Amino acid sequence: MLQILAGTTNQHKIEEFTGMLGDLADKVVFVNPNTLRNFPELTENGTTFEENARQKAEQASAFADAAAMADDSGLEVLALDGAPGIYSARYAGEDATNEQRITKLLNAMQGITDRRARFVCVIALAYRGEVVATFRGEVNGVIADAPKGTNGFGYDPVFIPEGYTKSFGELGEDVKSQISHRAHAFAQTCDFIREELASMDDFEFV
Ligand code: IMP
Repeated sequence: MLQILAGTTNQHKIEEFTGMLGDLADKVVFVNPNTLRNFPELTENGTTFEENARQKAEQASAFADAAAMADDSGLEVLALDGAPGIYSARYAGEDATNEQRITKLLNAMQGITDRRARFVCVIALAYRGEVVATFRGEVNGVIADAPKGTNGFGYDPVFIPEGYTKSFGELGEDVKSQISHRAHAFAQTCDFIREELASMDDFEFV
């Protein structure tokens, strides 16, 4: 089994990744860093999703001296010049709830008719402190007028993906795991892992 340390303590993300492993499910397992003693708070101070994903994967893999995977993701709203972007998690302050973030977003978009937006996800894979590869995924959509649905996390209740009339919050994991920004980035990640595994005799990293 290839153990990959997740460079996030966001259990939602770890569950989404685990649920999308498909044929790799019996070969790969993600380790939640909360299970490791003294796992440090990961620094992310980049200016792009890619920089932040690389930073988190590097730090996690250096700490464990093993393989790690981190993603950085967020919502870019066209009419808000790409905001909240890399600040999606902190949009309404460090300790704000998802509801507060959504309220702030809907207030910022009052009267705006162009509601186009996209979710972006960049995944970085690293081994012993060095980034091995990065993968980017996106999903286009529009921001709803009001939150709907309780599935998922973050901005899911107000994001309606292209080709649908319901939000990710209503559509749930079955749809999200097929078309989301994270699904697109992770499909490329899985292709890469599959190739790496094929060329390894012993992949007991941790
Ligand atoms: P990160 O942990 O720095 O990548 O924070 C990303 C933030 O963007 C999350 O806390 C959410 O607010 C938002 N976000 C990223 N991906 C999703 C998603 O799939 N659904 C809803 N919100 C998301």
